[in-house]
Amino acid sequence: MILRITVVLVLAAACMAQKLELDLATSALLQERLQRGVVPLKKRQAAISQVFHEAGCPVEAQRVDKSFGNVICTLRGQTDSTIIVGAHYDFVERGTGIVDDWSGTALLPSLFEALKKGPRQHTFVFVAFAKEERGLIGSTLFVKKLTAGDRKNIRAFVNLECLGLTPPKVWSSRSNSELIGRLDELAKTLGILVDRVNVDKVGDDDTRPFFTARIPVISIHSITQETFGILHSSMDRLDYIQKDDYYDAFRLVAFYLAYLDMKL
Ligand SMILES: [Zn+2]
Repeated sequence: MILRITVVLVLAAACMAQKLELDLATSALLQERLQRGVVPLKKRQAAISQVFHEAGCPVEAQRVDKSFGNVICTLRGQTDSTIIVGAHYDFVERGTGIVDDWSGTALLPSLFEALKKGPRQHTFVFVAFAKEERGLIGSTLFVKKLTAGDRKNIRAFVNLECLGLTPPKVWSSRSNSELIGRLDELAKTLGILVDRVNVDKVGDDDTRPFFTARIPVISIHSITQETFGILHSSMDRLDYIQKDDYYDAFRLVAFYLAYLDMKL
């Protein structure tokens, strides 16, 4: 079985073409990594740690906050300018929590893998957050522990929440306009249309503590009015994930991160 393919994206600019080359996991590998989340809540932390390990971020190199359980993998770039990419691995224990939010969490190792061939300007920090459903606890403590120097270096926080129900969407009222603009530019090159769906009235996500700390954020999800009822219900299962939409979300975010690395 082929697990990874090298994909080259040519960005057409006014007077020159730039190339982004990434090693992308195949859809079959993404599905296998989704399946790995079908475990009880208490086994989720070990599951994401293992998938990171297999994707080239060995367990010894991972940082785990002992007291609250965030699992962190860092891909060092040539500078300290940092882009953080996050998703939460806990769930409410109705259904199997694959949509909310193993779908985002399971992409983190594949994104790490896509970018690791480098070289990258930015340092990328991939964070699988704990206890989002109990009040954004993992992300709040993560932001609280940042030093003033860390904060100054963070250029963006990209949050992945509930992917694969529909084509990727952006929560535009929460997200930074420059980051949305860059996403639109890149999505256009890939031929993916990213609709705006705001969820201010019905939910929150791990962007809040970053947003409150004045760090530019973007929240990428796939929730619509029609699919919202799947979350926190017995329908939150692997079979609700649309393989093609999920793969589009992966391609989009992988190239987006490489694009931000050039542009921020
Ligand atoms: Zn969630």
